[in-house]
Order: sequence, then structure tokens, then C-alpha cells
Amino acid sequence: MERTKNIPPAFEALGGRSAAALFEALPTPCYIIDAGKLKENGKRLFSVIEHTGCRILLAQKAFSNYDLYPLLSEYLSGTEASGLYEARLGAEEMPGREVHVFCTAYRDDEFEELMRYADHIVFNSPGQLKKFGAAAKRCGKSIGLRINPECSTQEGHEIYDPCAAGSRLGTTRAVWNKEMTEEWRALLDGLHFHTLCEQDSDALEITLRAVEEKFGDILPEMKWLNMGGGHHITRRGYDMERLERLITYAQDKWKLRVYLEPGEAVALNAGFLVSRVLDIVENGGTRIAVLDASAACHMPDVLEMPYTPPLYLADEPGKQQYTFRLSGPTCLSGDVIGDYSFHTELRTGDLLVFGDMAIYSTCKNNTFNGMALPDIYKWEPDGAFMKLTGFGYQDFKLRLGSRK
Ligand SMILES: *Cc1c(COP(=O)(O)O)cnc(C)c1O
Repeated sequence: MERTKNIPPAFEALGGRSAAALFEALPTPCYIIDAGKLKENGKRLFSVIEHTGCRILLAQKAFSNYDLYPLLSEYLSGTEASGLYEARLGAEEMPGREVHVFCTAYRDDEFEELMRYADHIVFNSPGQLKKFGAAAKRCGKSIGLRINPECSTQEGHEIYDPCAAGSRLGTTRAVWNKEMTEEWRALLDGLHFHTLCEQDSDALEITLRAVEEKFGDILPEMKWLNMGGGHHITRRGYDMERLERLITYAQDKWKLRVYLEPGEAVALNAGFLVSRVLDIVENGGTRIAVLDASAACHMPDVLEMPYTPPLYLADEPGKQQYTFRLSGPTCLSGDVIGDYSFHTELRTGDLLVFGDMAIYSTCKNNTFNGMALPDIYKWEPDGAFMKLTGFGYQDFKLRLGSRK
């Protein structure tokens, strides 16, 4: 497993204090959203807007804890949705701001309602554009088509590579040439591409070159170009200057407006998952701490990506004196979070704090094994905790049957 997220910035806000001193009063497991860090990320993103005149949207599939939308709306231009529910959430909770939707395939029975919330509709294929485009245009929407520049810039994470061979995501130039006659081209206001994942602006530069090579003749007809998400703009060391240069290049060259829709970058390192040790077991030479938090249920990307999440005051296995494997309490053998080392022995009842847990966590968790969903707290810059929501047995039961 990689340790791609094991970086100290995840814990800057904790200032070296002990986990117990910080979080002892909270029930575990629980998620904590760090409002101060979210604000810092917002400011960084807003500086790109200020320097270039582009617009930046929150991709809600990564982070959709809407109690924080008022804070984010001071800096961002609106929200991006993967479908009807996220579009409605963006419209309700970030009112007055732009709502953009990209969905791989829209449903007939949802489209009319979607028109109530969305400002920009992006279609994945000429088939979808032909089916829904004219109706969306009549509703006054700005219409886009997702293109596939067939330019992979990432290795190892094929599950996150929309340019992988045989991908369903985006329209290749060959398909465009076959399907996009003058009639359909006239419907389009913009083009959209999303090909990056946790990448720096060097990958964007390579991608933009591919976009220009393949679709450069189309872009002068467009009002906007949406460069998707995957830009790790708020990561320490990210090359902002090159990002701004690329945005300005596109806007000047094709006389259009650039949109970005990062998810991760908005809430990067802005959350924690706090957990307690329930038991310590041993097998062969391996000592295993069983936690009240589960990789499978509460941090699904740990298994899906996979990666080993950063853990406060812990190190890679073997680096400090005591090495433990951390695992979830479910019956899934593979519900393993990772191996870590500590300078003291882990004991039942110890508090452990995982970092960078605001993204792809609260909006992606599940109740497999009848596991409870962790409560969610907001952590104010003044140090106060505010409970945003909590869950119980009914949240588990209601998803499964007819009776309360
Ligand atoms: C996932 C996704 C995003 C956000 O990606 P991040 O990696 O979280 O920045 C933006 N746009 C589209 C179309 C996506 O699928």
C-alpha cells in the first residue's frame, strides 16, 4: 500500500498536543471538520480566482457537509454536482451561486427537476446531448459536452483514470467527428474535461496541450472551458504560478472563461476521524489493535484507492519502538487500516486521530455489518466543537425495510 497521504500538514492544526487532551470529551468514532483549515483552503482557491478571473466550484462528491457551505461561499463561485441530489443540495445550501452538473447518463424521470436547480449541464456523450440538449437549452441552461483528450497523466490508480483504455467518460475526437454535426455543435456553450487525480499543474499542462491538439479548432466557438477536478491546489508545494499561467493562456487564446471544480483541494487536510482502541490481539509476531472505526465503513478510500491514512503522532512500521496493525471491528478480514509504529504501547481505550478525513469520507461511508455512522462535529477556529449531526439505529434500519 502507498502512503500517499502520510504528510504532516494533515495535523498542523493539532499543534503537537496529545489526542486525549484535544478530543477526550468526544464520542468515538466521530468525524471532525476543521473550519479554520477550510477557510485557509478557500482563501488559497480565491487567490486563483482573483489572479485569473476564472471561476472555481466545489465538487460536492468529495465534500458535501453543507453546514460549511456559507464559509466556502465567501471564496468559491458555486457547486458542482454528479446528479440530481447533489445539484439540489448545492442550490439549497449555497443559494445564489452557480450550480453545475455533470452526469455520465441523465435519467428521463429526473431531468425536469434537475432543470430547476442547474445552471450548467454537461453531457458525457453526443447521444445524451441529442436526447436532452435542446430541452435544456429551452430552459435557458448553459450546455457543455465532456471531452476525452485521451491523455493519461497518472499511473497506478486506473480506477481514477478517465483516460484509461475503454473508458466511458468523455467524448473522444473520433466520436466527435462521427456524431457532432453542425446542428449539435450549435447547442454547445462549453467543453469539459476531467482527467486528473491529486495532481500538480504539470499534469494539467500536459493535458491542456492534448486538449488543444485534439479540440483546438472547436474551442474558439466556446464560451467556457471546464477543466474538472483533481487539481491539488491547496497541497503544500503545488505550483500555483503554472496553474494561473495555464488558465490565463486558455482564456486569452480562445476568448472563453475557465472553470475548475476541485473536490479534494477544497477540503484537503480539513478533517479528522477520531477513534478508540477496543482491543489488542496478537497473531504470530503481529500485534493488532482493533478500533471502533472501520476502513470499510468509515474510510472506504483506504481500501478502494488503496492508501494508508496519516495517523497523528505515529510513524511508519518499525520506525518507532512499538509497531501495531490497526484494523476495524467488522468481520471483513481485509478491514485493515494499516501498520504504524508508536513510541508507547497502544492500550485499550487509547484515542487515535486519522488525518485528511474531510474528503471522500462523510459523504461516502456506509453501515456494513450494522456499524453506526460516526457523528460529525465542526471544529471552530476558537477551539469549540459543534455537533452537526448524529446517527443511530434508525439510520441503519430505515435503509433496509418498511418498518421503523
Ligand atoms: C471527481 C470529480 C471532480 C472532483 O475531483 P477531485 O479529485 O476531488 O478534485 C470534479 N469533476 C468531476 C467531473 C469529477 O468526476
